Parts: sequence; C-alpha cells; structure tokens
Amino acid sequence: MNKIYIIDVTNRDGVQTAKLGLSKLEKTLINIYLNEMGIFQSEFGFPTTRHETNYLMANLELAEMGVLEPIRLGGWIRAIAQDVETTFKLIPTIRHLNLSISTSEQMIKSKFQGRIARDDVLKEMAEAVDAAKAHGAESIGVNAEDASRTGLNFLVRFGLKAKEHGAYRLRYCDTLGYDNPFTIYETIKALAENVGIPIEIHCHGDLGMAVANSIAGAKGAIDGGQDAYINTTINGIGERAGNADLLAVILALTKSKGFAGEYKLGNPIDLSKAWRIAKFASYAFKVPIPINQPGVGANAFAHASGIHADGMLKDPHNYELYNYKELGRGEPEQVETGREIITGEYGGISGFRHVMGKKEISISFANAEEARKILELARYANVEAQKPLVEDELRFIVRYPEQARKILSLTP
Ligand SMILES: [Zn+2]
Repeated sequence: MNKIYIIDVTNRDGVQTAKLGLSKLEKTLINIYLNEMGIFQSEFGFPTTRHETNYLMANLELAEMGVLEPIRLGGWIRAIAQDVETTFKLIPTIRHLNLSISTSEQMIKSKFQGRIARDDVLKEMAEAVDAAKAHGAESIGVNAEDASRTGLNFLVRFGLKAKEHGAYRLRYCDTLGYDNPFTIYETIKALAENVGIPIEIHCHGDLGMAVANSIAGAKGAIDGGQDAYINTTINGIGERAGNADLLAVILALTKSKGFAGEYKLGNPIDLSKAWRIAKFASYAFKVPIPINQPGVGANAFAHASGIHADGMLKDPHNYELYNYKELGRGEPEQVETGREIITGEYGGISGFRHVMGKKEISISFANAEEARKILELARYANVEAQKPLVEDELRFIVRYPEQARKILSLTP
C-alpha cells in the first residue's frame, strides 16, 4: 500500500510570511527538531538567496556529519533553468529541490502578463528539471503554483511533462486555500491516476481547511495509487492565514476516524517531540500558541464544566482522544521570577560562564580561550536573534562551533 510522508516547509513558507522571520540559527534548530521527530524532509530554504548561502551550506555539512540525518534537506527555487544554475553555483552539495512555477490562467494572464503563455510554462519547467538532473539532483519535485485554480487537463499535461523529464513528485499547491476536502480529493486522485508519480499536497488556511484538505488530498493520492507527501508548518505559521499545521496533520492522520490504522505513514514519527518543537517555533517567531491549538494549546487538555470534569475523572477517554503525555507535555516549566543573568550581544565572559554552568545547561569550558571563543559566537547569535538564546541554541554552538560560525556569517 502507498504511504504518506511529511515535508515540513516552516523554513521556507514560514519565514516568507509577512511580519515574521527566523534567525539562521533558529532555522537550523528547527531542522534538528524536525529530524529528531522523524519528519521525512525539511524545505530548508532558498538556494538562490545570497543571505541563505552560508546557512544552507552549513546545514548540508551537518547532514554529512550525521547530525541532520536521515531527514532530507530540500531547497525551493523558481522553475527556471537560470535559477537551477545559480543554485548549483552557490550550493554545489544540494541534492533535493522543488522547482516552482504558476500554472493557472489567472497567474499566466495577470502575473506573467503575456510574457509567457501556457506552453512556455511547460517548456520552462522542463528545462529547469533537465538542468537540475544534469547537476545531479537526487530528487526533484515540480510545483504547480495556484494548482487549485488550474484546469485538470493542463495539470495532467504539466505533471506528465515533469515526469517525462525525470521529476519524482508533483506538488499540487492550493496557494490561495481555495479547495475544500471534496474538490481536492477528486483532483488529487485524478492526478495520481493520470500522471502516475507521487503527489505532494500544499494547502493554505484562507478558508480554514488547510489540515482537512491536506488529509483529503493524501487520501486522493493513495486511492489513486501513488504515495502522498503533505506540506506542513510548525504551528501552522505561513503566508496570510497560514499553512497546514504539522502536529494537527499528524494527529489527523494517526487518530482520526477512518484514517487511524487505515492509511500508513512512510516513516515513524515521534510525537513526543511535538511540544518542544511547537514551543520553540512560538518563541522563535514571537507568535504565541493559540489557547485552543490542537495538541499544544493551553486548553487542549483542560476541563472545567461539571459533566466533562466528572467524566474525565472517571476515564480520560470520555473526553480526550489522545493523551498529553504522547505529545511530550506534562513536565513542569520553570519561569524565573527573581534575578536573571542572560546572554546577550554585549555580554561578557563571567555572565556567560554563569549561564552556561546553570544546571539546565551545565557546560564548562576546558580553558578561558575556549570560553571566549564560544561567547563570541553566542554574541553574534544574539545579534541575529534579538532575543535570549534558548539552551539548545547554546548547546549547538558549543558542540558545532565551526558550523555555528558559518551559520552566523552574513556577508552582503
Ligand atoms: Zn505556500
């Protein structure tokens, strides 16, 4: 039976969201957490964007060292041959790419404005796939942007052309969140049947259906005889109303009526990391987790009304579908209410040694020189993040100072 894989796009769609962003070290931590969770692929950034170069190269280095393994690191670029050339010039070790081009009448008419026609879309995409193949890309996904407003016949032509040139997956982008579970199921099933390659499903929440559409699309791909790849973001952070939430998608796939046990994940996912990754993304993006967020919201396991509380006390299954412990929740959290010594971009050695020696981190240095070297990196990391570093960031800098230096190097 065909399977469902997750490709998380927080480090691409998440960071291109208006008013939000992540430091390169925060992006790296997200790749590490996704890897620990067992996510198949992280769309880790933009290979043609210069300020990403050092970050992307350092993360590929971490992959080679086995730190970011087995997760796949995939880049997102426009589906034009020139962008593929730039990609391999700047990031020669990249192996996984998604190539994106608009396919709808609306975009061809009103975005390209006569510059290219439908047949040119096919030609440009095919040339880009050829170029990526020639450079040795191991997996190539081809993205139909605004696919939900594109006619099925043209989508099939687009998919077949991509397949003919060696693409491994077709990404169906419901760029505007226009689909509903019924329409996306039918379209994706038809694409799977008629194109005959795995289908990737990229959904947005403009009508509040990103998660529902993602699992309906995945069902369509599998019922059509192909593997499904679902795009997610942590806490659903993404352009406008956001993307399909990573945790909600996994919960829907593994706990919902008719899906649980019926449809299979391509690789095991460790749900116990869900709490930590959601908390980190919330801190890094500076976006609070909504109180009613599935699984990780403050109210996700809270009960107040008499009938519910009574039912819960008798048997949690009365009013909970799954247990908070499965998601890594339940540990008490310490919040400092008195004196605090914090690392910062203008911090000094004694404060830094104090922070690193605290029992939650407990890192001591071999000598003063090593401590100063790590402090310098932590100061740069603070410049980029503009907020206190979390323990895992400090630990990362200590463990991988060379990669940290690269990640923190921005040279315009
Ligand atoms: Zn998107």
